[in-house]
Amino acid sequence: MRYPAQLKVGIVGGGWNGCHIALELRKQGHRVSLFESKPDIFQGVSGNFGIRLHKGPHYPRSKATRDSCREALDKFCETYPELVVHHESAIYAHGEKDALGNPFKVSDDAFRKVCHESPDCATIDPQSAGFENLLSAYNLDEPSVAIGDRLRTFFKEKLGIAGVHLHLNCSVEKIESLGQKSLIQTDDGQYTFDIVINATGYTSLLPQNIAESLPVDIGITHQVCIALVYEDQHPQNKPLSFIVMDGWFPCVMPVIDSHEPVQKKYILTHGSHTILRSFDSHEKGLSFLKGLDDDIVSNKIRPECEREITRFWPKFLDRFHYQGWKGNVLAKLKTTSEFRSSLTFEKEGVIHVFPGKVSNVITAAEEINVLISDILRRRYSSVREFNGVRFTTTSAFHINSQEIGDKPKQGENHTSNLQTFAAIFAAS
Ligand SMILES: Cc1cc2nc3c(=O)[nH]c(=O)nc-3n(C[C@H](O)[C@H](O)[C@H](O)COP(=O)(O)OP(=O)(O)OC[C@H]3O[C@@H](n4cnc5c(N)ncnc54)[C@H](O)[C@@H]3O)c2cc1C
Repeated sequence: MRYPAQLKVGIVGGGWNGCHIALELRKQGHRVSLFESKPDIFQGVSGNFGIRLHKGPHYPRSKATRDSCREALDKFCETYPELVVHHESAIYAHGEKDALGNPFKVSDDAFRKVCHESPDCATIDPQSAGFENLLSAYNLDEPSVAIGDRLRTFFKEKLGIAGVHLHLNCSVEKIESLGQKSLIQTDDGQYTFDIVINATGYTSLLPQNIAESLPVDIGITHQVCIALVYEDQHPQNKPLSFIVMDGWFPCVMPVIDSHEPVQKKYILTHGSHTILRSFDSHEKGLSFLKGLDDDIVSNKIRPECEREITRFWPKFLDRFHYQGWKGNVLAKLKTTSEFRSSLTFEKEGVIHVFPGKVSNVITAAEEINVLISDILRRRYSSVREFNGVRFTTTSAFHINSQEIGDKPKQGENHTSNLQTFAAIFAAS
């Protein structure tokens, strides 16, 4: 059986997933169009937030997530070395009590083991490093990934060289399955593709009643997340990060959005204070985000976050000065373990990606390759399946389906209704 070597692929969403998948599919020779509703790529979550290239300790309760972090990290760094920024230090610390006075969620011993899953992990003394209220702290060789303009410029160049057709400012309103093809309906026209990939961050274009169709009964929440932006008054040659675990604790990460030799911009987030609300739809989250303003963030949220970070890093405000804030809505799985890898699946010829971490784009693209092969196998196979019954494309089931399904009516003068024997005896 021979498949077409070059497929026409439409991808919706110009964030990490959409852009990476577009490049991967171009490498295989497919014709790729990318649709993004905003005026440019990487203007949503991916352009603003995906900062840590996680090695694992951020997920001390989810071994599956830690395994997927390590599985994807090396491949990600090999694929995008220009975007990976190594740190002066990347500290994971174990806090004594979280913002609500709750104790840590994993034991100090379990946290130590999780940090030491990275062979480069070094134990540090929190107090001599200027930190307080910590049970333990570890320094890992965990890098960050570029965001903002630096990421956008990189991908625009790569997508241009690769010949990906970009449709910016182009909102996809509907994806329709046409059997062998799929149709993308945008605000400016219709496009037909062999394969369509929905990489909208699980925010739109999902099949109706998708929750009931999935193999696992997953819970999804759409969370309004903000980050407070600070400027480092004493920047070093390489950036740093400081992440307190595991629960409602603060997190300081660099914002590498330019090629400046020294990184001054940082964000402060918090396990509860900057995750402002959880909704059952993306739209409700967006509408709440629109209602936030500088006053609310500066007067209500910022003091809480600064109180929290200075509890662990007393001199934080001497070094980092507040600049502003940014926010977005992120779809997350509701799981006890805080599982955070991506989920990729196909329904009716359209492939959907539920985002995980940035490095998960590698595994999502690998899964998409397998799903595309399966779609092609089904479309071009000489065996068809209906309700578990298989037959060949040379079978009358396939070729003459209409004719063999057209049945004579009951009582009609037709051979299949003959009851000659009974009729003869009835007459005699
Ligand atoms: C506060 C926060 C911190 C995070 N920190 C990290 C971290 O440190 N490390 C990490 O690995 N991950 C992190 N993440 C997660 C990571 O950033 C995301 O999972 C990832 O960027 C999602 O990429 P995506 O391409 O799937 O989605 P997005 O970046 O959301 O891209 C989807 C795109 O689709 C477009 N779109 C939507 N609907 C349509 C439509 N109908 N038509 C056309 N276009 C459409 C949107 O405009 C958007 O550009 C963080 C997320 C948040 C919110």
